[in-house]
Amino acid sequence: DNYLAAPDRYQRQPYRAVGRHGLRLPSIGLGLWHNFGEGSDPAKVKAMVHQAFDLGITHFDLANNYGPPPGSAETTFGTVLKRSLAPYRDELIIASKAGYVMWDGPYGDGGSAKYLFASLHQSLRRLGLDYVDIFYHHRPDSRTPLEETCQALALMVRQGKALYVGLSNYPAELAARAATRLAELGTPCLVNQLKYSLFQREIEAETLPVCREQGVGVVAFSPLAGGLLSDRYLAGIPADSRAASASPFLQPDQITPEKLVRIRALHALAQQRGQELSQLALQWVLRDPVVSCALIGASNPQQIASAVDALNLPPLDAEWQQKILAVLR
Ligand code: NDP
Repeated sequence: DNYLAAPDRYQRQPYRAVGRHGLRLPSIGLGLWHNFGEGSDPAKVKAMVHQAFDLGITHFDLANNYGPPPGSAETTFGTVLKRSLAPYRDELIIASKAGYVMWDGPYGDGGSAKYLFASLHQSLRRLGLDYVDIFYHHRPDSRTPLEETCQALALMVRQGKALYVGLSNYPAELAARAATRLAELGTPCLVNQLKYSLFQREIEAETLPVCREQGVGVVAFSPLAGGLLSDRYLAGIPADSRAASASPFLQPDQITPEKLVRIRALHALAQQRGQELSQLALQWVLRDPVVSCALIGASNPQQIASAVDALNLPPLDAEWQQKILAVLR
């Protein structure tokens, strides 16, 4: 390709501190969980990745199992990297993860050193990289001692296969213990990657304060609740939406009448502010500086542009936050 990144890409969005680390992350990151699997349209994929990078999105989030089939999102992204983003490798923060089932047998799932290393090696091959910027343990594994998982993550950093390590979906107390251990090992936990949106606010009570205290950043995933927190479903289920797709992660029956009442009320608030509901939802998760990055998904380049536009909107002051909370109560 003859891709040339937009020269003004670093004027498009603020880069946020990540806990007490030197790395800064773009306020909006792009996740490749959906829409980058096998059979995805290469032109569309390329357009989305280029749109993102042109808007200062330096952070791309992957995992071993993203697809479908598992592994294919990394292969897809590896192709874009090779064809057009390779000259920009030093401007990219590429994350991968292991923790969910990836292949048959005892070494294709969990939190053992065997699984984590084998999976990282596979991810590097699919991506065509010799290191990832962030490697995550994707979910806690009660059958593996925390010590073994922490040792494996620390060793990846010492071997230069990952620059930073992170945890995902760990409950507050376990995440705190792991972060303490990783710090002792000399490879402090960069970020906890956690589900966080107006519809999933559990981490506000305990997890966010603990992360702040420990100097660990937070990457908020599914800030739009998979698309519910947008105008997507206001008038039924569009044929090209996640809810209409084969994805088990957003099914039509999750779009309940009660949910729609809230979505409509939030949409009305966003309209009063002259913006989109999805932008309001992003502003919510980014209002606390402990959140380093809101990780969106997208099915087209316009959705990515809209997310970055949210960063220039008037902030949600206390009054607007109260109005939003009133809808959620
Ligand atoms: P979101 O909540 O941002 O949902 C993304 C979806 O919302 C898009 O696919 C699109 O749906 C819709 N959307 C996005 N922008 C707009 C817009 N402007 N207007 C209308 N609709 C919009 O995030 P995801 O659930 O996709 O998760 C994001 C990333 O987080 C993942 O890719 C992954 O990297 C990470 N993640 C991590 C997990 C973990 O366990 N660590 C688990 C889940 C996600 P449509 O396709 O219908 O157009």
